[in-house]
Amino acid sequence: MTNIHQFEVVIVGAGGAGLMAAMFASRTAKTAVLSKLHPTRSHTGAAQGGIGAALGNLEEDHPDWHTYDSVKGSDYLGDQDAIEFMCNEAVEAIYDLEHMGLPFSRTPEGRIAQRPFGGHTNNVTGKPVMRSCYAADRTGHMILQTLYQQCLRNQVNFFDEFQVLDLILVKGAAAGVVAVELATGELHIFHAKAVIFATGGHGRIWEITSNAYAYTGDGAAIVLRRGLPLEDMEFFQFHPTGIYKFGILITEGVRGEGGVLINGEGQRFMEHYAPHVKDLASRDVISRAMYIEMREGRGVNGKRYLYLDVRPEIVNKYAEIDGRTRPDGTPYRTTAQEILTKLPDIIEFCRVYLGVDPVTQPIPVQPTAHYTMGGIPTNQYGQVVYDEKNSPMPGLYAAGEAACVSVHGANRLGTNSLLDLVVFGKHAGIHAARYARGVAFQDLPADAADPVRQRLDEMLNRTGKEKTAAIADAMKAAMFHHVGVFRTEEGMKEVIEDIRALKERYRHVHLDDRGKIFNTDLLNAWELGNMLDLAEVIAASAVARQESRGAHARQDFTKRDDVNWLKHTLAWQKEGAIELRYKPVVITKFQPKERVY
Ligand SMILES: Cc1cc2nc3c(=O)[nH]c(=O)nc-3n(C[C@H](O)[C@H](O)[C@H](O)COP(=O)(O)OP(=O)(O)OC[C@H]3O[C@@H](n4cnc5c(N)ncnc54)[C@H](O)[C@@H]3O)c2cc1C
Repeated sequence: MTNIHQFEVVIVGAGGAGLMAAMFASRTAKTAVLSKLHPTRSHTGAAQGGIGAALGNLEEDHPDWHTYDSVKGSDYLGDQDAIEFMCNEAVEAIYDLEHMGLPFSRTPEGRIAQRPFGGHTNNVTGKPVMRSCYAADRTGHMILQTLYQQCLRNQVNFFDEFQVLDLILVKGAAAGVVAVELATGELHIFHAKAVIFATGGHGRIWEITSNAYAYTGDGAAIVLRRGLPLEDMEFFQFHPTGIYKFGILITEGVRGEGGVLINGEGQRFMEHYAPHVKDLASRDVISRAMYIEMREGRGVNGKRYLYLDVRPEIVNKYAEIDGRTRPDGTPYRTTAQEILTKLPDIIEFCRVYLGVDPVTQPIPVQPTAHYTMGGIPTNQYGQVVYDEKNSPMPGLYAAGEAACVSVHGANRLGTNSLLDLVVFGKHAGIHAARYARGVAFQDLPADAADPVRQRLDEMLNRTGKEKTAAIADAMKAAMFHHVGVFRTEEGMKEVIEDIRALKERYRHVHLDDRGKIFNTDLLNAWELGNMLDLAEVIAASAVARQESRGAHARQDFTKRDDVNWLKHTLAWQKEGAIELRYKPVVITKFQPKERVY
């Protein structure tokens, strides 16, 4: 039996984007939030470093500078109208969060504290600017808790541990979703006037990643299977500082506080790759520099890691060399106590997972798969757009890391994702509720849950011998080595073949658990199916793009090619093959320039 619920707006995902959408939608529409995790376990809670906004609390700053930095950071692939919209809304968004009770760190005068982050600059001097608002190194945790409290206050209906498996479309419009209740294995239909996907990213496709286990790209995969395209999937960000082997993130805030990257020969190598901003260059630039250092044998002890050094004596040494000052003009000098106060969680992680104390020892790091720039194409109101002309799909929305607005283009600047969630989550919520007010519920087909039920039954009854984990490991390794920081045609074509072979093996996956209650065996297998679909789209989009731009660095096409490739990729899954088409980038104020670091 299928349980049927009816809500005007159904939001899939309870991270920053989903909760922000819920807060605004629930003001005027009957709203439900479905989440496969308990809301406060969403990956937003892991965000450490901060949320960007040109408040100018500590030094001069302007939303226009933020816009320019984000356009440049995106390697000119971001849509400039959307970026400008986000950066202008940023300031109000931060004060909104403050008024909701978010405990930001403060300056001695009691204003919201800000710190520098990679790629954020004073546009006149080119020097790093303090733009990241933070709550110690637990910014995302605080955002998530604050928004969840507000949603409870607004009496949003939460369905926790409900995993959405399908989208229901009726006459070319969204009409609901199909979900499985994890505790019982029962299927539920959520009949809706508007559906918002806020399901986060898909970093689990790669071997070393900073992303949570739940980052399996469910929303994007569902939309893809329902015949809609995904945008710019070849662009996936590697963060330079993951803990060696584990991938757990060490926030860029460490470098914001003066930490530096050091190679096996004791050199601060970023001054050769980005002489102006050095260790605060954008993430794609630093990840590539690290790869080159390691490839050329300058990893620590000949291994595939480097050091991130935030010991006070090292921070002070390089602050002196760089002539870094505090906002009042005095030389920047730090102490162990200050580092402990500003980066408590990071220090704890390193002590627990590595047995390394960052106050007295350098931290071994390597680039880690971190952020999904591409995703479900939307406009700035969160409406999903499904073709080259940006035609909106009625009633269907996406926001947060699952969506591609596109404000991050080929490479996201740190602190711009939390901002993206808050700004576009809000607008998706407002727009969806407004849309819902103007339309009636559509009649649902009697068999709306059948495709899911049949697929689940088929999976549970397979007789093959293949194991989910083995297929997942093979996919992750192939993607990490060939569709990672550096790429070549040969490597990517090999991966496409590998993924197709893995998809074939996947059809014979054997499930040990055939029960109903919390069948994580089944759901892990289901999620692997999502990741395999997305991996193929990513590799196919990447091999077609014959240039290097942002996070997409090709060894066989090393230059950015604006003549042929200043355009967004749209990828459809059609009869087992990937079809690619392209749409223009919106350029308003800033003509593409060469990036100077
Ligand atoms: C370690 C780390 C640190 C970061 N630090 C920063 C930072 O300092 N600043 C910054 O700007 N960005 C940072 N980012 C990026 C940023 O945190 C994320 O991009 C952002 O939080 C994503 O939010 P979201 O709301 O889109 O998704 P999430 O917060 O991940 O929420 C996704 C939600 O979707 C639900 N869901 C997924 N699939 C399904 C399904 N099938 N059915 C039902 N529910 C489903 C999940 O349960 C979850 O509630 C960081 C990311 C990581 C991994």
